[in-house]
Parts: sequence; structure tokens; C-alpha cells
Amino acid sequence: MRLLVMGPPGSGKGTQAAILSDKLNIAHISTGEMFRDAIKVGSELGELAARYINKGELVPDEITEAIVKERLGQEDCRKGYLLDGFPRTLTQGRALDSILLDLRNDIDCVIYLDVPTQDIVSRLTARRICGVCGAVYHLQEKIPREEGVCDLCGGKIVQREDDTEETVRKRLSIYNDATRPLVDFYQQKKLLCTIAGNLSIDETTERIMSGCF
Ligand code: ADP
Ligand code: ZN
Repeated sequence: MRLLVMGPPGSGKGTQAAILSDKLNIAHISTGEMFRDAIKVGSELGELAARYINKGELVPDEITEAIVKERLGQEDCRKGYLLDGFPRTLTQGRALDSILLDLRNDIDCVIYLDVPTQDIVSRLTARRICGVCGAVYHLQEKIPREEGVCDLCGGKIVQREDDTEETVRKRLSIYNDATRPLVDFYQQKKLLCTIAGNLSIDETTERIMSGCF
């Protein structure tokens, strides 16, 4: 199974992607996560990506496309994969088409988590993540058992640098301009499966599993 998860920042796309890839036993490919890992280890890619990400801007297409192409060619992707956060622009969407053509792959379904913009700012500014394993928490809705400590690995829970209110507003406006056009792009390809993203985590997963494929 080859899936793509789309949605505005804060739509729960990363959370659903982690759950689904686990349930379906396919590779979870998150470009945001790949960039954050690169930033953590201080690689050249990381330094470059940080300049864009911390301001809430998109990393340039060529860079992002190259890392995705490399990643999709790896062995574990043969059993299937779920792309989370890529493509994010029409240019990236077309680049993905050509990568898929090379790999002789097709996407089975594009899951679109449709969340009203009003809900997003409050969601994201309340988001916290584990600085070690990347697990996602929320100040009101997904509270760790021990304050400030990750349930999964004991790591320290922090706020993402790009989850401050000002940066969130910028990410939303970039989403509307650059990423939203991909909804039509995939609708035209008859691949789009729209799910209301303002439901609980479990209910969202259930709707995807019963409605999308
Ligand atoms: P969110 O969906 O909550 O914005 P992500 O973890 O998917 O979070 O992405 C975080 C940041 O990483 C983005 O705001 C952007 O700067 C960068 N990024 C991730 N994926 C892409 C992409 N496909 N193209 C360009 N930049 C990206
Ligand atoms: Zn952790």
C-alpha cells in the first residue's frame, strides 16, 4: 500500500501517519521529521533546512525532492510507504509523479485531513513534542503521564521552534497559497479521500481505515 497524507499544519497528519504506517506495517516518510533529524545531528542539510523551517517557510523544492527520491528508493519502501508532508507544492507534486514513474509505483490513495483554519492556531501553539523521539503531545488533549517527560522514551518534552503563534500564522498562509492547490491536483487524479480532521485521534483513524482504502 502506498499512501499520501495531506492537510494543513496541525491537522493531525503526523499523528495519523504514525498510527497508520504502524497498523499497515509500511514505511513512514515524514519530510518534516527528516529535516528535524538532520538539524539535530547538525548536518549540512540540517543547517540549510533550519534557516527555512524556523521562520515557518518551506525548504526549497529541489532539496526536498532530492531527499524524498533517495528515501523512496530504499529497500524498506518496497513493502509500501506513507508520505507525510510531501508533496507540499504543485512543483513537488509533479516531481513526485516523475519519481513514481521511475520507480514504477502508483499512489493508492491521498488522505486529506480537512480542518477549519480557525481550529489550527490554538492546536499548534499548544503542541509539544519529545525532543528525543519526536512523539507528539498537546497541553490539553494529550498530556504526558509525567509533566515534561515523554511517555515513550523518557526524553524531555519541548515546543517546536516553528510552533509559536507568529510562525504558525505564516505557515498557514503558505499552506493556503502553496499547498492547498494540491487538493485539486489529486481530486482530478481521483485519488483524494477527504476526512474531517477535527474528530478525536481514534475516530479519525477509524474513518480513514473504513473509508479510504
Ligand atoms: P507541519 O505539518 O505541522 O507543518 P512538518 O513536520 O510536516 O509539520 O513540517 C515542518 C516544516 O518542515 C515545514 O513547516 C517546512 O518548513 C518543512 N517541510 C516539511 N516538508 C516539506 C516539504 N515537502 N517541502 C518544503 N518544506 C517542508
Ligand atoms: Zn520520546
